[in-house]
Amino acid sequence: MLDTTTPEIKFVIHSVRQASLLVKQVQAEMVSPAHTKDDRSPVTIADFAAQALVGQLIMQAFPNDPLVGEEDSATLRTMQDGASLERVTSFVSKYTDQATPDSVCEWIDHGSANPAARYWTLDPIDGTKGFLRGGQFAVALALVEDGEVQIGVLGCPNLKNSYAQEIGGTGSLVIAAHGEGTWVTSLTRTQDFKPLQVSDIVDPAQARLLRSFESAHTNETQMQALVNHLGMKPAPVLMDSQAKYAILAAGHGDLLYRLLSPHQPDYREKIWDQAAGSLVVEEAGGKVSDLDGKPLDFTTGRTLAQNRGVLASNLRLHDAALAAIKKINA
Ligand code: AMP
Ligand code: MG
Repeated sequence: MLDTTTPEIKFVIHSVRQASLLVKQVQAEMVSPAHTKDDRSPVTIADFAAQALVGQLIMQAFPNDPLVGEEDSATLRTMQDGASLERVTSFVSKYTDQATPDSVCEWIDHGSANPAARYWTLDPIDGTKGFLRGGQFAVALALVEDGEVQIGVLGCPNLKNSYAQEIGGTGSLVIAAHGEGTWVTSLTRTQDFKPLQVSDIVDPAQARLLRSFESAHTNETQMQALVNHLGMKPAPVLMDSQAKYAILAAGHGDLLYRLLSPHQPDYREKIWDQAAGSLVVEEAGGKVSDLDGKPLDFTTGRTLAQNRGVLASNLRLHDAALAAIKKINA
């Protein structure tokens, strides 16, 4: 059972809810069908605003804990002669008191720390491309202690019951705590937490594959080779962000590969892209490793320097999925 009375769990539920509602509001107000593909301003505004909000909440709740996020305020201050900072401040002020351009920058910079023995890591908008398409994205927050992810939370505004795509619905808050399972509740309404459990599919031919929407984040040729080798019959689900891990945890997908793009063979995963999602899968009974079968190592700084790509599964399919990687030399 999830103990929702501990300070850390209370904190993550509140902060991921608030940050998710904030970014959802930015998406609703700034991303429209007329939005041009190369205008990234909505994601910039939402990214900084959510990091500011979570940075402030962490400063209040756990003043000694570092927050490892992607952004710092230096670029925001100079962007569009300060107009972007004004916009960020205006969104943040809807969710907290005392938001001024200076305090917002201070809160953002609280989130630009480096990992320590105990640290939080935040991806204010995971799946920026999905956010800009008006589709899937996630707010991802995790607590890591001595290299072990202790708490992982995904705020998925466009996912219903942690698996069904529903744009503009009430959204899902998916939370995993070490040894306490993975749970889902509504993002907007306080309601019961329901436990999540991975699927029990053992036949690779029945496996439902989850993969990045962005082809630049994977290797299309190898992905197809894996599908063929394992004989996976269901159509793969292409989706942005760690929302895929929520779906796997809910038993609505069975296998997830993050392969290395042929254009960036040395790419290493960022900790904020994997910490929350990996615990969400493991605590639901699944397994997460890199493409070589090694556990993800969260002690190597801001990237998973010792790991190549990611394989996540319902556990039962893990060995077959790893053997397939070896077979096709991915
Ligand atoms: P997804 O939507 O699952 O592809 O995950 C989105 C995340 O992929 C982003 O937050 C980026 O940090 C990360 N990313 C960016 N470039 C790459 C890359 N070349 N390979 C894998 N992941 C990447
Ligand atoms: Mg990300």
